[in-house]
Amino acid sequence: MTQNGDVIWYEIDLADRIGAVGGAWNAFALDNNGEALVGASVIGTSIFDHIAGHFTKRFFREFLANGRSSSQSKRTYRCDAPDRKRLMEMRAETTCDSRLRVSHTITEELPIERAVFVTEVGRSGLADHVRCSLCNRLRFRGSNAWREPDAAVPDGGSVRVIHTVCPDCRAEVSARALWPRPS
Ligand SMILES: [Zn+2]
Repeated sequence: MTQNGDVIWYEIDLADRIGAVGGAWNAFALDNNGEALVGASVIGTSIFDHIAGHFTKRFFREFLANGRSSSQSKRTYRCDAPDRKRLMEMRAETTCDSRLRVSHTITEELPIERAVFVTEVGRSGLADHVRCSLCNRLRFRGSNAWREPDAAVPDGGSVRVIHTVCPDCRAEVSARALWPRPS
């Protein structure tokens, strides 16, 4: 079980291939139904094989490029579990052997009373919601409103999504600024 303050990290080479993973990586993968991502199975794969959505990939590419050019890049984002909102901080730093070490730290958590299970379906025609990869808010197809998962699906249950990056996150509003304060 992962918790606040846990750090998950991996190192990638100039071709974005994963060379090493560590910290709470395995616990985090198992917590999030990521059995396929545990340990050695991801070594040698491209980080982009594990990221869904055109805009998310583009954002992440920029984040990595920024880390490589300025030697450090930092950003908050959300990585919710079905029953928990999680605010994360992502940081990319160049190592002495010119790899990039990307680390993710859980900084805050809030419970989701009625669990919301999210499945990425790959094609927009199959999805009922669009989900922002960075703030994890959901937009019902045909609506313009981006809402917290527990506001979008108040009774809980399953949603079928495709991933994108919402206008707030494209405008670099931080996930911390969008983080809902407990009432
Ligand atoms: Zn967003």
